Amino acid sequence: MGDSTMHTANVLAFPSREDQKVIRTAVETFLSTQTGKTRELMLKTIRAVLDRYRISRFSFVDYSVCATREPAWSIIRARHIVEDTKCPGCGEYIYVFKGVVRILSIEEHSQRHYVTYGCRCGRIFGKWESAF
Ligand SMILES: [Zn+2]
Repeated sequence: MGDSTMHTANVLAFPSREDQKVIRTAVETFLSTQTGKTRELMLKTIRAVLDRYRISRFSFVDYSVCATREPAWSIIRARHIVEDTKCPGCGEYIYVFKGVVRILSIEEHSQRHYVTYGCRCGRIFGKWESAF
């Protein structure tokens, strides 16, 4: 499966390096600015790339992105799980009012939820939280 195969296919199996960069840049921009506008742009950008490749999910080393039903466009799910209450990147606490760590997605299960956090420093990590 070399480059020649990819060029002849109508639909690529996964986003090109450039499109992967587009997603990562949108995520980094949201994490550093943390505004409603950049969050929406991030989720729409992810969805647009996934739709272009007609895939519903793509995994990076540290997180995966998934297409969802409207109006959420897409979700980000961390692949790295922490037990701690601090960001593994910069040490900022997760549960601080108006802090730098934001919830990116919540996956609900009966007993506990899998919460994906994104920090202003750029780190994305997941944590199992009690559902009660
Ligand atoms: Zn951090």
